[in-house]
Amino acid sequence: MLSGSCHCQRVKYEVTGPIQSAQHCHCHTCRKIHGTVFGSSAVVDGTVFRVTEGQDHLVEYESSPGKRRYFCSTCHSPIYALQADEPEIVVLRLGTLDDEPDQKPSRHIWLSDKPAWYEVKDALPQHETN
Ligand SMILES: [Zn+2]
Ligand SMILES: [Zn+2]
Repeated sequence: MLSGSCHCQRVKYEVTGPIQSAQHCHCHTCRKIHGTVFGSSAVVDGTVFRVTEGQDHLVEYESSPGKRRYFCSTCHSPIYALQADEPEIVVLRLGTLDDEPDQKPSRHIWLSDKPAWYEVKDALPQHETN
């Protein structure tokens, strides 16, 4: 089992099943939402993800039609996202994990949005879109 939390610890969650995939996303929206050059996320089945504390501290933001991103209302850590067209999965923000996941990010996506000031230097596959 993996545990995770926001920075202020009001929101806590657990993942009781496997990570299906993990990636670094360089899209414009992830950059803005995370305030970083890319966002690192993992896909898990919704049945293995559970918010264990602070459900009432979560706020959501629809960053694009059908994509709802959830944040702690106090410290604003991005925790996870849901997509209307894939209701069975949860996209978890890897940086909020407190444990080491077995599965590491396996690719970079949306390189077409990457700013010139950052260069990807690892050997993972790079995709212009997703
Ligand atoms: Zn918080
Ligand atoms: Zn993205």
